[in-house]
Amino acid sequence: MKYHSTRNNKISMTSMEIIKQGLSSEGGLFVPETIPKVSREELKTLIPADYRQLARRILSMYLTDYSESQLAYCVDHAYADQFSSPAVAPVTSLVDGLHILELWHGPTCAFKDMALQILPYLMTTAIQSTGDKREIFILTATSGDTGKAALEGFRDVPGTGILVFYPLEGVSSMQKLQMITQEGENVSVAAVKGNFDDAQTGVKRIFRDAQLAEQMEQRNLRFSSANSINWGRLVPQIVYYFSSYLNLVKQDCIALGQNINIVVPTGNFGNILAAWYAKEMGLPVNRLICASNDNNVLTDFIRTGVYDKRRSFYQTISPSMDILVSSNLERLLYELCERDDAELNSLMEQLSEKGYYSIEGSMLKNLQSMLWGGYASVEETMESIRSTFRSTGYTMDPHTAVGKWVYNEYCRETGDYTVTILASTASPFKFPGDVLQALKSESSCFVGTAGSDKLSKPSGTHVDEIQLLDQLAEVTGLAVPAPLQGLRKKKIRHTAQCSIDKMKDQVAAYINSK
Ligand SMILES: *Cc1c(COP(=O)(O)O)cnc(C)c1O
Repeated sequence: MKYHSTRNNKISMTSMEIIKQGLSSEGGLFVPETIPKVSREELKTLIPADYRQLARRILSMYLTDYSESQLAYCVDHAYADQFSSPAVAPVTSLVDGLHILELWHGPTCAFKDMALQILPYLMTTAIQSTGDKREIFILTATSGDTGKAALEGFRDVPGTGILVFYPLEGVSSMQKLQMITQEGENVSVAAVKGNFDDAQTGVKRIFRDAQLAEQMEQRNLRFSSANSINWGRLVPQIVYYFSSYLNLVKQDCIALGQNINIVVPTGNFGNILAAWYAKEMGLPVNRLICASNDNNVLTDFIRTGVYDKRRSFYQTISPSMDILVSSNLERLLYELCERDDAELNSLMEQLSEKGYYSIEGSMLKNLQSMLWGGYASVEETMESIRSTFRSTGYTMDPHTAVGKWVYNEYCRETGDYTVTILASTASPFKFPGDVLQALKSESSCFVGTAGSDKLSKPSGTHVDEIQLLDQLAEVTGLAVPAPLQGLRKKKIRHTAQCSIDKMKDQVAAYINSK
């Protein structure tokens, strides 16, 4: 299997090369030249497989230049006892016809672990196999969940080092605490005086810095990035859509071959794109339901064909979905253009030059036949947490709650009650303040304001979130997940702070320590 770039389909590279490189040199994203198929018969043979066996099988269809034993090594290290559930990604039934795929049993309690636990192994295996002698240096700016999951994934992985910049303004106190207490011999964390965009821009500048590149060369290091456009992050996410489907078959909730719908709370369009690949591979999926928060650029795109990023940015209680440019959408667009890279380039140029593009005709029809889009405001998200808890006893984090709200809306509007899987992307304990506030709010006073006014984050959420863990445990009857419980006793290990123009010095110091 070779990989093209969405912006140049004459490029043909192996999976090891593209996982090392991340982004194609002309700015495009790597995509597989064909999408492998899983027949109904093969699906049946996979029913008894456990998560790791399934992961090896699915990955082997895409990462064809990795040997069987290399993939087994990567998978077995990634999905081991750092996951609190032996199923890795267990499925829970919420109500008749709706099942929750819990993707947050990993070490950081958010779904990013599903990919970032395995990416370091895929990368180091690629480096070694291709005779590259350099050590990988991961440099990342984070707005929250990615940074912690990347630190946890790369910590003490031989042949790698990682430096994460987080913005002083913008991460939650829980996310900050998770990062500044990070353990591991090869990890560094620094706060940047600024917001996420500042940190991100600073990192991009560092990647292009010639002087640093020379120092890197001397120390035998190569930069890499752990962000979600790397195919090595996307492909492991396809696995859990297969595992959740097979789980439902095993539990007799569906018959093999029966179509399901999948709801995904979406930010950068990575998680839902993995579901699309699963569908294309032959997983029986009817509709993919794309759930957004007030930053509802994808809802509008799916409904109208116009992608317009010229709009206000809202800070919401589902911060990992506060995104106006969903990078991974480019991969789906490329497929919708029937792999015409010229057409794709033109759309991407319009987006960067004018701030919008539009699709129409059969392209829009195709999009709408696969995807349905909806969104939940902050009040609706709170109401979703509250009402689901009252009626089922199940506690959702705000991201999952957005998905649940949009699921209800989908059923109401379409009358389609196909058996559905809702991807749950974080533990409620990652956002204890907002979840508690939702659970404690009385009545359904928020109902009726649907979509009208766009309030931002409610006040009263700046209390030290750590102290709220016990309170949430008491209210819900759930145990605080071990990785968050453990934070109380962890020493603070990373206190570095710098201004934006001093980020380069932090990186240079890291390089020189090698
Ligand atoms: C990253 C993240 C998302 C969004 O996932 P995408 O792949 O960017 O669409 C949703 N929920 C949580 C908790 C996340 O961390």
